[in-house]
This record gives sequence, C-alpha cells and structure tokens, in this order.
Amino acid sequence: MSWKFFVSHSLPLFFLFFFYSFPLISTKHNDDPTFKTMHDFSGYPVDESSHTFTPSNSISLSVDIQALQKQIDELSTFSDTPAPSVTRILYTENDVLARRYVKNLMGLAGLSVTEDVVGNIFGRWDGYEPKLTAVATGSHIDAIPYSGKYDGVVGVLGAIEAINALKRSGFKPKRSLEIILFTSEEPTRFGISCLGSRLLAGSEALAEALKATVDGQNISFLEAARSAGYARDEDDLSRVFLKNDSYSAFVELHIEQAPILEEEGISIGVVTNIAAPASIKVDFEGNGGHAGGVLMPDRNDAGLAAAELMLAIEKHATESGSLDTVGTVGILELYPGAINSIPSKAHLEIDVRDIEESFRNAVINKIHKAAKSIAKKRKVTLSEFKIINQDPPAHSNGSVIKAVVDASDELNLTYKYMISRAYHDSLFMASSNGHDIYSMLQRI
Ligand SMILES: [Zn+2]
Repeated sequence: MSWKFFVSHSLPLFFLFFFYSFPLISTKHNDDPTFKTMHDFSGYPVDESSHTFTPSNSISLSVDIQALQKQIDELSTFSDTPAPSVTRILYTENDVLARRYVKNLMGLAGLSVTEDVVGNIFGRWDGYEPKLTAVATGSHIDAIPYSGKYDGVVGVLGAIEAINALKRSGFKPKRSLEIILFTSEEPTRFGISCLGSRLLAGSEALAEALKATVDGQNISFLEAARSAGYARDEDDLSRVFLKNDSYSAFVELHIEQAPILEEEGISIGVVTNIAAPASIKVDFEGNGGHAGGVLMPDRNDAGLAAAELMLAIEKHATESGSLDTVGTVGILELYPGAINSIPSKAHLEIDVRDIEESFRNAVINKIHKAAKSIAKKRKVTLSEFKIINQDPPAHSNGSVIKAVVDASDELNLTYKYMISRAYHDSLFMASSNGHDIYSMLQRI
C-alpha cells in the first residue's frame, strides 16, 4: 500500500466527524484491541485498487461538540470589536492572547508545540513510524475587521478536537499528525495574504520583501513580530521555509464564504480546484484642475481613465472564454478627492482569478493593453501597472476527493463538487512540496 493511499483515504475523515460519529473496523493486525491504525480507523481496504468503504464492528468516534463550540466561542472573545463580530489583527495583543489559547489547547491534547520565527504554530502528534513524513491540517485564526467567529478557526480548533477524539478512542497514528496555525492568512495589517503559508512554501521574494514591509502606522513587519515574541534575533525569514517532503499531505477545513451551500441546503463542498488569484495595482495621472474652470475638451481626467479601465476589466473577464474567470476592482481612489477638483490621479487595485492560469494571465495581458490604450486616448500617464502577486491554481488530489465523497456517503452528508474561488493557506501548502492537498468547504 502506498503512503499516498494511506494519507488521502484517511485524513478527510477527521473533518467529517466534527458533528458526527461513525463506526470503525477493529484492528486485525495487532493483538492490542486499543491499538488501531489509520486503516482500521478509516475503514478503507489496504488494496489501493479497491476503494470500497467497508466499515464494520461498532467502535465509534465521538466529537465533543459542546466543548468545541465553547472553544470557538471563547476564542472569539479575543477581539478588538464587540461580539458577535471578531477583529483580530496580526501580532496585536488579542492575536497574541488567542495564539496562547490555541497553544494551550494543543498542549492539553498532548501535542508537542513549536513555533517558527513568524509565528506559524505547529502541534505535533508523533506517529509510531516517526521516519514517515507527517500528515498536516490547519488554518488560521486572524480575523479581518468585523468578521465572524468560524473563519479559519474551524480548521484549527476542529483539528484539535479531532485529535482529541482519536486519542479518546485509543487510536495511535502510524504517521505523525500535525496541526498548523498559519500566521496572517488575512492581508489586513501588511497587505499580504497567506503570509505564513507563502513563507512555508519557500517564497524568497516574500522573505526579502518583509524586511522592508511596514503597516499603516509605519511599524515594520519585524518590529511587529518582535512585539509579539517572534523573530527575536532573526532577520532571515528564509528559516521558515519548509524542507522538501516535510508533509505527505495537507487538508484544510474552511467555511465556504459564499452562499451556495447554504442556499442549496448542502452540508459539504468537495473542493476540486482552488482558483488562481492575481492582484494588480494601477495608477493613472493627469493634470487635474478646477471642476468649473477647465472645459471638457481640455481635460485629461485620471478618474475617467480609471472608470474606463474598470469597464474594460469587466468585458475581458466576461469574454475570456472561461466561465470561471472573475475580475474585480475592489479599491478605487481619486486624488485630490474634492467635489470641485478634476482627479489628477486615480489608483485602482484589481483582483483577477480563474482555475486555469492561462485564462487568467490572458485576461491580465488584455487589461494591461487596455490600460495603455486608455492612457493614450485620454492623454493621461499610466504611471504604474504592477502585478503584486500572480499565484498558481491548485487541483485537489483525486483519491482525496473520492475519500471525502465516500465518507460523506457513509455519514449521510449531502455534498457537491465545487471550485474554491476564495483561496486559503492550502493553496500555498500545495506548492510547498507538490504533494496531495485538499481543501474542503463546509456550510456553517
Ligand atoms: Zn479564512
């Protein structure tokens, strides 16, 4: 049996028993009745050619739902805004307190807890064959202003409770299992999403850029990290990079962040692909002038150039040839920003995504061409067209997808195949070693 089979057919089950219990087969290859391997647990046959889900016997795993809900509620109190909202910004006091709360839970679960220099936190349960690469799961606990309490948190606290459930049942893993709390999945403070997982995946460019990165208050990333107890004597963030083959698989449970599952009354979104996001910053500059004084033929209005580019983005995303292409201008700033002043500068931030890189990149090229021709036509300067990030898409491993479907069937959970158009840390874990990844959406 290959490790891939071992990994991909067992891990998703962790997450399907958040709210359910399911029967297990008893061990056949160990005399100790409390000693069970993941195979016994999952109920999957050893032969990779056969994927029949064949549970028998009646040992059941039970998740302590009340304890898990209580932990989610308690964690939500570490917030800069009042309940029910949660605001938890990277390296702030509440972030540090929330991290301490999670580390304590990991310790109580008997995990060995370590942290890297940017504050990615690892809780490890050693397997009985420690030389095998570990299986990992996890998510984030930072929260954008006024967010909900489940975003990211379900994938961290749920994983701890899943391990607790496994331990209560006497299970001992063959491979080590690791829970990762990723630093700064949200871009709120430093403008970089999935900061921790990008570094784990070995982003040299990010490790270098972070030395000069500051937040809105001009506090540097390293200064902020040090205030939270990280990066003490360390400017070299490349120490965070994972070695090749650190993990044999990674699974992330995350809320959907879209209305589809809720509207359709479906419990589980089986993620097949994660869309590839790209971010672009654009500046147009014109001459400005008084709104009453400059006649229309004499203007070179940077704001109108931006407006025209926004419509071009809609057109190119719509006509890309792929239904999955989406293009959004989420930020538009006009300067000087007075009602009686013709905009002398316009700043746009553009998000373009698709599950196929080629479609997305073709649209980005068209947007760039449009920006140049609009600037020429409107006699403004295209002073910046900067691609901030252009991440690759990820495709879930087929055997993992099948395992989730089989488990959903077994547990009578409704499910549908979905593309994750939002991206999470699993996108970068996928590029960290090229192994199986899995991201599963859940309706909350
Ligand atoms: Zn999230």
